Parts: sequence; structure tokens; C-alpha cells
Amino acid sequence: MDKVVGILGGGQLGRMLAQAASLLNVNVVILDVGDHAPAKQVVSPRSADLAHINGSFTDPAKIRELAAKVDVLTVEIEHVDVGVLQSVEGSVPLGVHPSPTTIRVIQDKLVQKQHLAAHGCPVSTFVQVDSNAASVTSIAEQLGLPLMLKSRTLAYDGRGNYVLRTLTDIPEAIAALGGRPLYAEKWVPFVKEIAVMVVRSASGEVASYPVVETIHKDNVCHLVFAPLRSNDAMLAKRAREVAEASVKTLEGAGVFGVELFLMENGLIFVNEIAPRPHNSGHYTIEACETSQYENHLRAILSLPLGSTALKVPSAAMVNVLGASNNMDEVTAVARHALTIPGAAVHLYGKSECRKGRKMGHITVVAPSDAERSRRIRPLLERLPSPSD
Ligand code: ATP
Ligand code: MG
Ligand code: MG
Repeated sequence: MDKVVGILGGGQLGRMLAQAASLLNVNVVILDVGDHAPAKQVVSPRSADLAHINGSFTDPAKIRELAAKVDVLTVEIEHVDVGVLQSVEGSVPLGVHPSPTTIRVIQDKLVQKQHLAAHGCPVSTFVQVDSNAASVTSIAEQLGLPLMLKSRTLAYDGRGNYVLRTLTDIPEAIAALGGRPLYAEKWVPFVKEIAVMVVRSASGEVASYPVVETIHKDNVCHLVFAPLRSNDAMLAKRAREVAEASVKTLEGAGVFGVELFLMENGLIFVNEIAPRPHNSGHYTIEACETSQYENHLRAILSLPLGSTALKVPSAAMVNVLGASNNMDEVTAVARHALTIPGAAVHLYGKSECRKGRKMGHITVVAPSDAERSRRIRPLLERLPSPSD
């Protein structure tokens, strides 16, 4: 297993990938700005030629430098230069995963929706829109209000989304989305957001993790509950089938996070797919037989996939977001978690705390849902909260 994995991006996902890699004697080389990116802090290179690279993961020269010293290239973020990845693909022994063509489809959310619709995956109504008032007005009249306006590119944590509630807000919406290419989605009155992590091996074998419920706050993942509880005995099976079928339409190995909307009548829509480990899969580190991070590495290195089964009756994950530049508030909730049985603290080693920034997460495992609720409650009460 003495292989070298290159990762574009050195944030928390890269950090948890690197932690999983170290257990398998897999070497990791990180490309990101600065010598102390979160992922770089947890792996010390085995030899000088495997030193991390200081540079932007969007810099073609740096991507080529990384490609030249690894057995496989992967990403912790989809906002990367696909053309450069395609140009190095043939020279990296085990290739680039997920495949650059997959990243290209996913990084433009309109193209992603068109791709899913063309492959028969259930998506709600969406339409391309021009970044001008006339175009947005005509789409709003067609699809109704509220209307979800989305930036096609560079979106994350809801930055790139604008909920249009009245036609008078259109100029503000266009200004807020900053002249980026846009599309619009009909408002989806979901009853729950759910998610499924799917892992796909290099040979095309696909396996899914248990269905989880995700709760967002201000467009950012706040809580994840595993497994999903429902009166509908077939729901979990259906959600996994939709997620697996969606991933099968894409090329390349690795894990994919599939975000789904659950409707009152039981229908499921695909919201979006992340071609990498995902926030809704952090819980797998403590709660599943093989974490999403280890399975991502196994998949891209052509190793046998590990079991995706839950190994605890109940789990929850809470994201710890900064409320200000005060790191002490983050440390305080983490310290409290140390007193709770079944709680595992993950702090990301970010150099600066900022309002809304993901600083860490805490996973709680428990013998029952009731006990899980009891264990997580004091943490929710202590989360940093913005004063304004
Ligand atoms: P991520 O950080 O997950 O990549 P993102 O910036 O790509 O987020 P989306 O996942 O598209 O954003 O949307 C963020 C949230 O906004 C969703 O999780 C959901 O709560 C809400 N949302 C998105 N699309 C719709 C819609 N069409 N109707 C209603 N709510 C929506
Ligand atoms: Mg997204
Ligand atoms: Mg999303």
C-alpha cells in the first residue's frame, strides 16, 4: 500500500483524508496555499521529495508539480481547473479521481442538473436564466415565488444562492449574485433534507452508506442524524437506490455525497452531488465500519472497499462554526464534549476563527436515539452564537 496520493486542497476534508491515509501507510502530498493548511498539519512527509506543495490548487504549474510525484490525484473541492487535470491524467499512474469529466459536470450546477435529468435521475424543475431583470422576471412568472436563484459556479455553503421572495427584490438578487452565470430552481417545499454517501470503486462497484437526515441553518449544514428514521419502511432503500443510480451516471472512483430532498408524498429529488467526501459523511468516522475517508482512499487506490454499515445504533454530528474571531468559543464547546460519553471532537486547526467558518465538528454515538439526543443537547446549547 506504499502509494502516494496527491490532494488538491488542504482544508478539513483533506485533513481527514490524510488522517485516514496514515492508518494505511499511504503517503499524502497536499497542494494548498501556506505551509500550515489544516491538512498539511497532520502529515509529515516521509521523504523530501514528498514535501507538500505551497501554492493554489487552481495554479496549473503547481498542479503539474503535484501530479509528477504521486500515484493518484484526488480533490477535496470541485472548484478546480478541469483542463489541467485532463492534461495530467495520462501521466499519473492511477489517474485522477473522480474523473475530470465528472468534476466538469458537477462544478457547473446547471450542467449537473441537466446531466441528472438526461439520465433519468429525479430532479425538480430548473431553468437557465440570464443575469438581467427581464430574464429573471419572466422565469419568476413561469416558476412562481419564492424562486431559488443559484450561481452556476463556485457555490458552497449556500453562497451563490438567493431566495427571491418578491419581484421587487430582483435587482438586489442580481447584485448579490455578482454577475455570475445563473440558473433558477422552482422552490422545493421539502419535508426533510436527507443525504447518502456513495462509494464507487475503480472497477465500477458501487456501495452506499446509511441514509442520514441533514438539518441546515442559513444554508449551511448544521446537524446530521444517522440513521434516518421513518414510518415508511421502504424510504431508506429508495433513497439509496436514487443516490447509487445518480452516482452511476458519473465516471471515476471515490466517494460522492448525494444531497436529496424528501417530499411530503414520499417523492425524492436529487438536490446536488459532491464528487468527494462530504460534510454529511463526517459521522462515518466513528459510526460506520469504514469511514468515508478511508473508503475514498481504498476506491482511488484500487483496494477492496470496506463495509459501509453502521456499527452503532445511533449517531449525530454537529458542525462547530465560528461566531466571531474568538476561537475561545469554539474551544469551549469542544472542551465540554470531552465530558460526554460517545462524543468525538474534531477541530480543524484553522489559523483564524471567523463568523460562519467551519472550525470543527463533534460526532456523538449512542446506544439509542433517545440517549443520542440527551448527549448532544448540552453541545447544542454551548455552540458559538453570533451576538448580532
Ligand atoms: P453545499 O455547501 O451543500 O455545496 P450549495 O451552496 O451548493 O451548498 P445548495 O445545496 O444548492 O447550495 O443549497 C443549499 C440549501 O438551500 C439546501 O441544502 C436547501 O436547504 C436549500 N435549497 C436549495 N435548493 C432549493 C430549492 N430549489 N428549494 C428550496 N430550498 C432549496
Ligand atoms: Mg454545493
Ligand atoms: Mg448543497
